[in-house]
Amino acid sequence: MKSRASGFIILVVLIVIICSSFVKSEHNLLPATDIKSYANGLTEEGLSLIRAEAPREAIVVIDPGHGGIDDGATDFNLKEKDICLDISLKLGELLKKDGIKTDFTRDKDNYVGLQDRANKANKEHADLFISVHINKLPEYPEVKGTEVLFAPKQPYLNGMNSKRFADIVCSQIVDSLKTEDNGIKSRPELAVLHRTDMPAIIAEIGYISNSADRSNLSDPDFRENAAHSLATATEKALQMMGAKVNSDNKWMISSETDIKK
Ligand SMILES: [Zn+2]
Repeated sequence: MKSRASGFIILVVLIVIICSSFVKSEHNLLPATDIKSYANGLTEEGLSLIRAEAPREAIVVIDPGHGGIDDGATDFNLKEKDICLDISLKLGELLKKDGIKTDFTRDKDNYVGLQDRANKANKEHADLFISVHINKLPEYPEVKGTEVLFAPKQPYLNGMNSKRFADIVCSQIVDSLKTEDNGIKSRPELAVLHRTDMPAIIAEIGYISNSADRSNLSDPDFRENAAHSLATATEKALQMMGAKVNSDNKWMISSETDIKK
């Protein structure tokens, strides 16, 4: 009896030591800011991690499509890369003016690879990723309108995922710009969508191959309005994620992050 009792005590002591060292090492290895990379290393279906996180400044990464040697879609003298950059820079200005920290995968006419675009957003622990593109379907010049692409297996961050974000962006653009509503589309194969760790979308604003859309896309006022609608959608999404504006006019993300793969 005595040896069984002391065996039990040794077992309990061992469990306590093992548990405390696990907690300690997890704490050391995983500061709250690294929670996303930790969760991304775990690929089990349906995994959910809820962990307290100190309030930190929200960051949005804006990705103007194409650039440099890659013109994207072209029609007449219009190039997708130029339209995307113009709308993206305007979007960045609007967000910055409202106190939202932003960064760009490119802010001039240069070529950036798709993996590098995703890497940049991941490295910065961006909360949202917005890629701006223009569509082209020359075989069907009557096709026009807006669609927003997402990858379905993106994590949830503070209750937001790519599909939900795509919905917000698509309805905001269509409401504001009165473009044809082509809805949201699942495109899991697109690199910037599936290689980014945060809710990520590609906003295809309109079709350069359609005459009505093309004349809109070449109009600076339309581009300004497109940037406004993207900014409004971004702010809506951040608010839904619990972001709050602090006394310094910075958008802080709330303290709990729920990550599902
Ligand atoms: Zn494109």
